[in-house]
Amino acid sequence: MATTTGREEKDVFTAFLTKNHLKRSEQREVILDAFLRSERHLSVDDLLHMVQKKRPDIGRTTVYRTLKLLQAAGLASELALDGQSRFERDWKRQHHDHFICKSCGAIFEFSSPDIERLQDEIAAGLGFVIEGHRHHIFGLCRRCVSRPARAAAPMR
Ligand SMILES: [Zn+2]
Ligand SMILES: [Zn+2]
Repeated sequence: MATTTGREEKDVFTAFLTKNHLKRSEQREVILDAFLRSERHLSVDDLLHMVQKKRPDIGRTTVYRTLKLLQAAGLASELALDGQSRFERDWKRQHHDHFICKSCGAIFEFSSPDIERLQDEIAAGLGFVIEGHRHHIFGLCRRCVSRPARAAAPMR
């Protein structure tokens, strides 16, 4: 899970903007910088808070739109969770899946060659061509499961 310095990602984003006839703005660069500094699964509001420490003039819509551009450029991937999307770095990262705590929102990454192999075999048996997948496994993390009076998270 090597973290690049982000220089390569900046180049990729610049190329993406040029290709799509989009402006290279200073606001977008500040947002990309903040995104690249984080190793977490960020909600739009998480990133907004990071950005606003430096630039209170940047609004939520700009942050959201920039994240969608980063996604289109292959630099971010979106986890569409119940009610809230989260974004993580995706450039040259190995495929992985997620355990998600429904109580506190903690996210744990995992990857299993066995699971990947099994689903390839099942797909082959069905003649199904896999283009991608995301496993989101919901439940309670170790801390939340042992909390005595936990408020039940709404099941959706
Ligand atoms: Zn939890
Ligand atoms: Zn992840």
